Amino acid sequence: MKDTVLYLVVPCYNEEEALELSMTRLRDKMRRLMREEKISSKSRVLFVDDGSRDRTWELIHTYTQQDELFAGLRFSRNYGHQSAILAGMMAARSRADAVVTIDADLQQDIEALDRFLECYENGSDIVYGIRNDRNTDGFFKKTTAGIFYKLMHLLGCKTITNHADYRLLSKKALNALSEFKEVNLFLRGLIPTMGFSSDVVYFDVKEREAGQSKYTLRKMITLAVDGITSMSTRPLQIITGIGFVTFLVSLLIFISSIVDWICGKVVAGWTTIVASICLIGGVMMISQGIIGAYIGKIYLESKERPRYLVDAMILHEEKEDRDGTD
Ligand code: UDP
Ligand code: MG
Repeated sequence: MKDTVLYLVVPCYNEEEALELSMTRLRDKMRRLMREEKISSKSRVLFVDDGSRDRTWELIHTYTQQDELFAGLRFSRNYGHQSAILAGMMAARSRADAVVTIDADLQQDIEALDRFLECYENGSDIVYGIRNDRNTDGFFKKTTAGIFYKLMHLLGCKTITNHADYRLLSKKALNALSEFKEVNLFLRGLIPTMGFSSDVVYFDVKEREAGQSKYTLRKMITLAVDGITSMSTRPLQIITGIGFVTFLVSLLIFISSIVDWICGKVVAGWTTIVASICLIGGVMMISQGIIGAYIGKIYLESKERPRYLVDAMILHEEKEDRDGTD
């Protein structure tokens, strides 16, 4: 058991306020796990700096110099939370037996790590952290998150309700994940489709102690739209259905107007015409927008651009106490 090399992947975006406290807590927790022989001394905490514009990288750099437990990877710009976790996991893949991803503000309870490790030791390749409640979220976040998970289920995506990105993946699961070549990865939707033996761990979410939420409304909407369009094509089927119903209704209106014409009632209903033009116009525009979203996705995927660019990496390999660039 003490041989398990655990990598903690911590995405950080402008987290200078939260990092000092989180670093201390993560170090204490990891050292304790090592003393209790639950993880190997080769285990690491890998901070991924997602193109922060504050002192985040400076801090990470300092931590890596102070303690070989810490490693850092820096993006060339802000690529988003999902890309940051992915990069961390892919960097850790060849070195770790298991990787746990956790937010830099440590809102997720790090004490749950022991249970993650137990599930891993019992043979699970994927362990999902599920929050007990959403009491620490504001009304807006609670409502929008609720709608999002319901919508995902309705659209047939296998997301796990109230599971964010606090999860453990074994080497086997990481290798499987690396086989997915799509540029737009929605990890929460993708990982449950991979199969493998999995388990869940429940944990409490705390208030953010330092700094502000880095998930702006815009980032949340992008995540939701990306999630839906990358996991489901059901919106396309839905618009086909709407198109079909609209066509039937138009056909009925057409027949009734022919009947009116035959009966000599030629006074055209202005309101009906305007209303139906607006209705059909609106439906057409929305439909094109949805189709456009998918075409946009195809366009972006077809370019096969790199998912992220790494600016620097610092990692102390066991016995080799020096900076290494990957
Ligand atoms: N994050 C990131 N890139 C971004 C936005 C956020 O790496 O563009 C990180 C952030 O530093 C944190 C995690 O994602 O570690 C979750 O963000 P946050 O705690 O702000 O979200 P919330 O808990 O409010 O949903
Ligand atoms: Mg948070």
